[in-house]
Amino acid sequence: MALDVAQIRDDFPILKRTVNGKPLVYLDNAATSQKPQQVIDCIVDYYSRYNANIHRGVHTLSQEATEAYESARKKVQAHFNIGHSHEVILTSGTTHGINLVASGFTSIMKQGDEILVSAMEHHSNIVPWQMLCERTGAQMKVIPMLEDGTLDMEAYQALLSQSTKLVFVNHISNALGTINPIAQMIDRAHEYGAAVLVDGAQACSHIKPDLRELDVDFYVTSAHKLCGPTGIGMLYGKEEWLKRLPPYQGGGEMIAEVTFEKTTYADLPHKFEAGTPNIAGGIAFGAALDYLNGIGFEAIAEYEAGLLEYATEELLKIPGLRIYGSSSERTSVISFNLEDIHPYDVGTILDKLGIAVRTGHHCAQPVMDFYRIPGTVRASFAFYNTREEVDKLVEGVKKAQMMLS
Ligand SMILES: *Cc1c(COP(=O)(O)O)cnc(C)c1O
Repeated sequence: MALDVAQIRDDFPILKRTVNGKPLVYLDNAATSQKPQQVIDCIVDYYSRYNANIHRGVHTLSQEATEAYESARKKVQAHFNIGHSHEVILTSGTTHGINLVASGFTSIMKQGDEILVSAMEHHSNIVPWQMLCERTGAQMKVIPMLEDGTLDMEAYQALLSQSTKLVFVNHISNALGTINPIAQMIDRAHEYGAAVLVDGAQACSHIKPDLRELDVDFYVTSAHKLCGPTGIGMLYGKEEWLKRLPPYQGGGEMIAEVTFEKTTYADLPHKFEAGTPNIAGGIAFGAALDYLNGIGFEAIAEYEAGLLEYATEELLKIPGLRIYGSSSERTSVISFNLEDIHPYDVGTILDKLGIAVRTGHHCAQPVMDFYRIPGTVRASFAFYNTREEVDKLVEGVKKAQMMLS
């Protein structure tokens, strides 16, 4: 089924605005996606009609809000094919989910244990593990990457051992768009009894992961990268892991009983959901999943693959332009540089033309170090982008090259 892009674009009010007198060309989807009217309406509806705190009120508004919030949790469960709804922890986003797990492993890791982290991680997937290693004496080892922007799977196999307790890898690299072979990586880690956490922040706007089939131990994502609001996301954890990990934060909602002598914790998922959550955000997260499923992930993937191919071809016609990462398994992210021109300068000229791209290290400095560059220009496409917008990007890059070289 082909996408009706014109109709889809109508759902996104922001796409009608101009920037510096030019129609906005939004190609920074890997940083955050735009929001359709359906998601915006859902937030307005909550605050206009049934704003109340959840899980504790007997009154009607509180019951309506609780029902909507819990129904969003069930949507997340169904979308990712998760066994139990209490294995869905609603977090403030990917970073929160990772820190929750890293903090919980403090009581599990011992001196001499090892954590494997891939070389193409986002900083939010490196720093919490470094902190965990400092707390526990565990050691972090890096799964190296290859020139084409894929992970070195032979090196991964060689690094795995009985000492490996955890493996951390992103499903899709935000800097390069590489889709990592997580199913294979999870299977291999499990042969050594190691748990695997997959960072799905970059993946979930492009593909629909089946977490039960993947048999992954933990999976995290952020709603704002998949047409939902900021400040909400999910941590999936296998029940046995979530039971083993201690609470991350203390507070209201996460307790069963409190006295000054001793507190007992609430059951899952509430044990990990201290305090009043982002209620509107949670409900809108569900609305965003409904919206994407209404379009269909197969149609999205097919359309975006077409955009990626077209943009790659057209950009490579520009002399001196280099694209980083050439894995055959990729999503619609293109990281590139123009000879020695600084990415920031290219991004500034593109912005004058109304084109939004990301420049810099994309929170993935180790990837930039690998290619011995300070950063790249990153154009990341969504299903609401068009070929005409690709043409504008290519024209803009040519103009930047003329002005800067
Ligand atoms: C965006 C992103 C993150 C961080 O997500 P937050 O929403 O900022 O917590 C982590 N990893 C990857 C791969 C990302 O793309």
